[in-house]
Amino acid sequence: MVILGAGPAGLVLGNLLLAGGVGCVVLERATRAQLGARQRAGFLAANTVRTLERHGLAEGLLRDGRTHTTCEFRTEDGRFRLDYSSLGRGEPHTVYPQHLLVGDLLTQYLNAGGQILFGAEAMAVQGAAGTRPVVTVRDGDGRPGRWHGRYVAGCDGRHGAARRSLPPGAVRRHRLDHGVSWLGLLAEAPPSLDAVGYAVHERGFAGHMARTPEVTRYYLQCERGSSAEDWPDDRIWDELALRMRADRYGPLRRGPVLDRAVVHLESDVLEPLRHGALFLAGDAASLISPSAAKGANLAVLEAELLALALIDDLRHGTPEGLEQYSARCLEHIWRAQEFSRWMVRLLHSDPGTDGSPPFHDRLRRSRLASLRTSRSCQDWFADHYVGV
Ligand code: FAD
Repeated sequence: MVILGAGPAGLVLGNLLLAGGVGCVVLERATRAQLGARQRAGFLAANTVRTLERHGLAEGLLRDGRTHTTCEFRTEDGRFRLDYSSLGRGEPHTVYPQHLLVGDLLTQYLNAGGQILFGAEAMAVQGAAGTRPVVTVRDGDGRPGRWHGRYVAGCDGRHGAARRSLPPGAVRRHRLDHGVSWLGLLAEAPPSLDAVGYAVHERGFAGHMARTPEVTRYYLQCERGSSAEDWPDDRIWDELALRMRADRYGPLRRGPVLDRAVVHLESDVLEPLRHGALFLAGDAASLISPSAAKGANLAVLEAELLALALIDDLRHGTPEGLEQYSARCLEHIWRAQEFSRWMVRLLHSDPGTDGSPPFHDRLRRSRLASLRTSRSCQDWFADHYVGV
């Protein structure tokens, strides 16, 4: 079994396959140091934590992760908080930075005897329609190589070799551009509030998400076409303070900005998530806007489904799980996509559709009013916010 990519999807898959007695190799383009430094997600759903716990992969996050229960909305109509862990199904998030989770998964995989090649860029998956697909690779020095397996798992993200290798017409690609861009920021500064902060402002959205006691992620909606270099630290902090209404609700704790990158909010879903012997999981299967923090959670869920199905097929000769893999994942993916789209429309006026901006703005305020006042709307929100 050849796995492309050592993100959450590839490493959960690798660990579960090893535990199930299926041999595999992970091919990862980045070096080990690069992998350990890539800070991305942080909010893990309760179901994700249970999945990792079930397979003995949650030691680090149970020890060092922090329970998170509340979000706070700051809008032109005032401020309100939702303790989502006491609404709906009543589940919290666990905040545990993705690079720590990836580090834990990698250590477990290596300790279990797992094989991984760093600096190995998959170039293409060939012969996926047959029973002995080949992955062509190039190592860090540009030397070519080839790996064979009964199956290949494409866990190499949106721009990886798995997607590129799909022949025209093999899968459909459903794509949505949400029409919004965010400047994603990582600041060496303690969180400024004990909640996820969502600020809706006439100048655009601003978001605050805790990562560790020393590091906080922020988002600032920015113009399409603007570049991260347009945003020096002072401009970032002044704009965050303005949009988060720090004068009214308390100052932000400032610090150096460690990382800044413009993210266009886009979604896409490939259908089906299989082409012959090539299976897709995580961002390679579906890209989801970061508005609802679902990407890493979907990656873990899909990796578990794929691992169990592969073990059934390869160890017990039972192919039904693999046949159902795509449909089972897509059910979760579309539900998550629907909620993430709803979040985009809750936090921004809807620039992606026709109609007068003031009309869409009033709809957005009405959505927020429902969330502030309606218990059934809050229960629905909590279930989808934490669930995958
Ligand atoms: P990745 O983590 O992207 O891993 C893919 C791996 O494949 C990488 O290591 C890459 O180097 C490797 N690779 C790529 N191409 C090749 C190749 N050709 N050959 C070999 N290796 C290759 N999700 C959440 O659930 N909660 C959050 O709070 C959240 N916040 C986010 C914040 C930001 C700023 C961003 C950008 C994303 C966030 N996400 C969040 C999304 C989440 O990070 C991704 O959905 C998640 O990383 C997907 O995991 P993956 O394993 O599919 O892909």
